[in-house]
Amino acid sequence: MSEISLEYLQGLDATDPLAHFRDLFALPEDLIYLDGNSLGALPKQTPAHLQNVIKKQWGQELIRSWNSHQWLQKPVQLGDRLGKLVGAAQGQNLVCDSTSVNIFKLAAAAIRLRPRRHKIITETGNFATDLYLLQGLQRMLGDQLKVVAVSRDKVATEIDKETALVLLTHTHYKSGQIWDMAEITALSHQHGALILWDLSHSLGAMPVYLDQLNVDFAVGCNYKYINGGPGAPAYLYVAHRHQDKLEQPLTGWLGHRRPFDFDDHYQPALGIEQTLCGTPSVLANAALETALDIMEQADLSALRHKSQQLGNIFIQLVTKFCPEFEIASPTDPNQRGSQVSITHPEGYAIMQNLIASNIIGDFRAPNNMRFGFAPLYIRYTDIWHTVETLADIMATGSWQETRFHQRQTVT
Ligand SMILES: *Cc1c(COP(=O)(O)O)cnc(C)c1O
Repeated sequence: MSEISLEYLQGLDATDPLAHFRDLFALPEDLIYLDGNSLGALPKQTPAHLQNVIKKQWGQELIRSWNSHQWLQKPVQLGDRLGKLVGAAQGQNLVCDSTSVNIFKLAAAAIRLRPRRHKIITETGNFATDLYLLQGLQRMLGDQLKVVAVSRDKVATEIDKETALVLLTHTHYKSGQIWDMAEITALSHQHGALILWDLSHSLGAMPVYLDQLNVDFAVGCNYKYINGGPGAPAYLYVAHRHQDKLEQPLTGWLGHRRPFDFDDHYQPALGIEQTLCGTPSVLANAALETALDIMEQADLSALRHKSQQLGNIFIQLVTKFCPEFEIASPTDPNQRGSQVSITHPEGYAIMQNLIASNIIGDFRAPNNMRFGFAPLYIRYTDIWHTVETLADIMATGSWQETRFHQRQTVT
């Protein structure tokens, strides 16, 4: 693969075992969408399914649908379906709330499980919500808790017998760098600490083995590679062994053992349902349902293989044709998730120019241009056209136009 040509990539598309998945998504014809790591594409089946849930289940059957269409069971049903994608047996998985809210519930619960320890360790430069939620928890608990954020290379040595919890994002949102989940999980346990993995950029992009690695807690995002739609309810995992003693702080009525007793006193449900808080978003769950119908058909190791290939090819082509960019992601595909970041001081404007050329990636401050390769619908030849366009933008200097320098709210 020393010399990558368009013909070579056309050959890879022709023999791609995942190629047929692309047709299950409603992607605009002339668009190359390299942002599936941030908002996954719309499955073609989703609008019809939502129409049915809206018109029939909501419109006709009304409140009876909570029973007849098992609306209240969806958090567990969808959770267990997601659990299969991350190596988690049934009864430990839930789909509910946002990733942010789930981080708060589980981080707080973890501290309660390690009452004599006062440290939570995380990584500086972690996704902002993870850091902010720990800071919020610290403000609430005062001296009882110390949040220690250290750089990636110092995390392992920071874990000690004072550590209650380690919270890390498996695939880094910006660099795409992957933590060794087996190693850090085992290390945390050696010190008696618990671990919470944020799988937001790993879910649906690679196989994960939560049960096998003895992970304690996990959360993840369903609107990225899973394609559950904007704001899709998030994934949450609590290992069986922690469920008896778990105490999560958002003790809403649907986490109660018998919510329809409307008893004045909270009593947690016995299983994973104790991590529920309020009423599930039925329409959002319906969109997630059709997305999982697709994801469940994909072989995760084939998916991972293609994703690594796409990233390798992108890195090689950028290195060759766009030398003005720095590769800000690991070049070793085993240390990289399904996205590649490249940096340039004018990254924002260059990305805006690329988007105006119908190639969508995104920008992460201060200078990261991020490209996500959702292996279910990205073609090998898309990588060629992307780098070709990028090289053209750099050669002509078209990114200098003032319209590409206006900052939007969402970058
Ligand atoms: C996308 C993402 C989230 C999303 O959190 P929300 O509550 O859905 O906004 C959380 N953590 C990481 C690491 C992410 O990449």
